[in-house]
Amino acid sequence: MKQVTILGATGSIGLSTLDVLARHQDQFAVFALTANTQVERLYQQCRQYQPVYAVMFDAQAAEQLQNKLQQDGLETRVLAGLEGLINVASHAHTDYVMAAIVGAAGLQPTLAAARAGKRVLLANKEALVMSGKLFMDAIKQNDAELLPIDSEHNAIFQCLPGQPTDNIHDLGVKRILLTGSGGPFRQMPLSRLQTVTPEQAVAHPNWDMGQKISVDSATMMNKGLELIEACWLFDTTPDFIQIVVHPQSVVHSMVEYDDGSVLAQMGQPDMRTPIAHALAWPKRMDSGVARLNLFDVAHLDFVPPDYERFPCLQLAEQAAREGGTTPAILNAANEVAVQAFLNKELGFPGIAEVVESVLGVMSGRCAENLATILDDDEQARLQAREFIDQTRSKVQ
Ligand code: NDP
Ligand code: MG
Repeated sequence: MKQVTILGATGSIGLSTLDVLARHQDQFAVFALTANTQVERLYQQCRQYQPVYAVMFDAQAAEQLQNKLQQDGLETRVLAGLEGLINVASHAHTDYVMAAIVGAAGLQPTLAAARAGKRVLLANKEALVMSGKLFMDAIKQNDAELLPIDSEHNAIFQCLPGQPTDNIHDLGVKRILLTGSGGPFRQMPLSRLQTVTPEQAVAHPNWDMGQKISVDSATMMNKGLELIEACWLFDTTPDFIQIVVHPQSVVHSMVEYDDGSVLAQMGQPDMRTPIAHALAWPKRMDSGVARLNLFDVAHLDFVPPDYERFPCLQLAEQAAREGGTTPAILNAANEVAVQAFLNKELGFPGIAEVVESVLGVMSGRCAENLATILDDDEQARLQAREFIDQTRSKVQ
């Protein structure tokens, strides 16, 4: 019986993970569930799955959860804050950790899971983007297992022959083809992007995801973050990765080999497939996902990315090449800009403008330790906030 901790249990990936686990209760037990502020949802999950621990990042929310669970006579122990998250992510009784907190907030608990030698199921791409080398070193040095949940990286992993730590350059791999749908604004006239609303941006044509990653998909910053993620996961460089826009989201990515073979992993756009894959690996198990009917799909399109429409893609590629703390700076600026867009403080094209401005005034450093990374993350957030406030005061 594997004991599973889900960091970010109340989110889109968290819910999909619980759905898969519920189908395999003979193999997996829920050890700990965590959330930020959504008390009611975590409370319902505790009632259903009876984890040993529940963690709320927010201290007040933790108190509320504790009271509700006590009233029901449930034995789930409640913890709070970063300390609580790190505790359950690295707990001696946890075997698998699903890292599904959104954004930089997930970095330290995810790193703690790696350092404790767990099987880390990585959805929280921002953690890897920020701390790439540190994180990959922690995985290797502590005999942890790293399995990608991001559908593209899970697809690439499935198209490779070896163990997660094999160097792909020894496997006859010529290129990685990283697919992305192009999001909801792929064909919208550029002049209309200024007026798109958060509601339009989060309405992804193929995937049902949390708000932040949905906006990232609309700007294609998501693909940029995924490029950086792929470089770390598969120990390669941006030149080795071709981004391919594929609007149907049926091919989840591909690997091209020296002999001309191109292997693709296909499936429904449903995160339960990569989640089930990573939980069961190296075996396979049912995910609850409907079968792919190729006659319904009928045709697949592939086009090159449009850098004018998606400037975030270029910014992320540049950050990937610069390395050091530059990807962490890019990520932090983007998180602040996306939140400002969701709060209607910033127009949609403003997201890329804020990220570009922050990258223009900050230079990355060697990302040798967590303190440096967190420091640059914080500085980039302050800079981004300043640019947003300046832009708003100009408009008003
Ligand atoms: P959601 O916004 O749906 O969920 C985020 C989860 O993180 C929630 O449980 C939330 O708690 C928790 N959380 C948010 N902020 C904090 C914080 N400061 N401290 C602790 N917990 C926090 O996100 P998604 O599930 O969509 O995405 C999660 C991660 O997975 C992201 O990194 C995303 O890029 C990645 N991913 C997601 C995919 C998807 O299909 N959704 C696909 C591929 C990758 P609360 O509910 O209390 O706010
Ligand atoms: Mg993805």
